Amino acid sequence: MMNRSGMVNIIRTRIRTDPFKNNYDLVGKELGRGKFAVVKKCVEKTTGKEHAAKFLRKRRKGQDCRGDVVHEIAVLESAEANPYVVALHEVYETPFEIILVLECAAGGEIFNQCVADNDEAFTEKDVIRLARQILMGVACLHRNNVVHLDLKPQNVLLTSAQPLGDIRIVDFGLSRRVDSTTEVREILGTPEYVAPEILNYEPISTATDMWSIGVLTYVMLTGESPFQGEEKQETFLNISQVNVDYSQDVFEGISDLAVDFIRSLLVKNPRKRATAEQCLNHPWLISEIHHTVDAPLDEQEASQSESEPESPVPSPELVMP
Ligand code: ADP
Ligand code: MG
Repeated sequence: MMNRSGMVNIIRTRIRTDPFKNNYDLVGKELGRGKFAVVKKCVEKTTGKEHAAKFLRKRRKGQDCRGDVVHEIAVLESAEANPYVVALHEVYETPFEIILVLECAAGGEIFNQCVADNDEAFTEKDVIRLARQILMGVACLHRNNVVHLDLKPQNVLLTSAQPLGDIRIVDFGLSRRVDSTTEVREILGTPEYVAPEILNYEPISTATDMWSIGVLTYVMLTGESPFQGEEKQETFLNISQVNVDYSQDVFEGISDLAVDFIRSLLVKNPRKRATAEQCLNHPWLISEIHHTVDAPLDEQEASQSESEPESPVPSPELVMP
């Protein structure tokens, strides 16, 4: 069920009201925090397994926001089969909070490697692999008519940092359902990453996420935020004019295909922006053999059990799951 603004209000997960602390021990320090949530590492007493507990306040700025949290749960449920979206394990409710017990993405935010010095920063080869995973995750969301609307380096996590693990998309607090009958127009998101149509209060679509993936890819490759100005107003002006620096000093040592990929996303008209499926077919992302490691497990196993001689060139199914 969905209301007019793209929020889902029916969930399948049982909301537990027994004390969270009966079943989990909080361990270590905070994993992170945002505007209304604190996320802490915890261990499930019965299994000894680590999880991430996201504590969400039900009242924010004097308003009842329980519905927003229920929507976040509903979207996580709908993405249960999506390997690149963080898994939801359990939900607890207290008089003031709702606690989402999530799969722990132990590698933290890709943000840390985006701003890191050379030896810690992503290589282009890393970014190719991570961008494919982000796109496979987002393509799956978009096929289910979900737009994330807050894709940025703080909401894209890693299962491990060293060695570099896999992507987990988190934070569906701003996400919406979009379909042909509902038009969603809202001012939301993080200034540096929002698309021009959001600034102009024009309809939101899956293309809105694709703009953010363009910004995200730019930041992962260069360590620089393409639209960030001295002040918010300058950032907004840079976005609405699509004022992007593609010069050699920014993209030193980075392939022309990477630049071409970003250019296909940082396009003002949402209808002319590349879709997630189109991005997955971009030469930058299909150029390298090492992508076979991203093939889904079942296909990898299938290809191993068929005792064919190992072919040096991956089959198209393996490259494009
Ligand atoms: P908010 O809606 O307040 O931004 P997020 O869901 O983005 O909340 O969580 C805030 C931060 O907590 C994230 O940016 C990340 O650093 C950390 N975090 C969130 N979920 C997890 C998780 N499943 N595993 C590890 N860290 C997490
Ligand atoms: Mg967040």
